[in-house]
Amino acid sequence: MIVTLIRESLAPQSLRGIVLKRRLMDILACPIDKHYPLDLHVFEEKEEIVEGLLVCSECGRWYPIMDEIPQLLPDDLREQRDELSWLSKWKENVPPRVLKEGKPFNLQLSG
Ligand SMILES: [Zn+2]
Repeated sequence: MIVTLIRESLAPQSLRGIVLKRRLMDILACPIDKHYPLDLHVFEEKEEIVEGLLVCSECGRWYPIMDEIPQLLPDDLREQRDELSWLSKWKENVPPRVLKEGKPFNLQLSG
């Protein structure tokens, strides 16, 4: 136990980042159907994922990671306008399927 703790504290920063991310992914589930793990797309990364996208393969919903915070909200609490402008900003990195068919809203529908 003590040996493990020392090893972790000596781990390089990059390695610690990976551990944190994996741990994050393990606890994140779709708020609608509780499906996990979610598909992760990283757009911008420092020690943590700064900007990215989580996609639920069960229901097709997508969730933004903004300023290191995963926004896993039910449909009625989501800000369509803000999230679509965010999606548009990252559209070069977003999978085409999410842009066209992503739920609860996508760039195709907003036209
Ligand atoms: Zn889902």
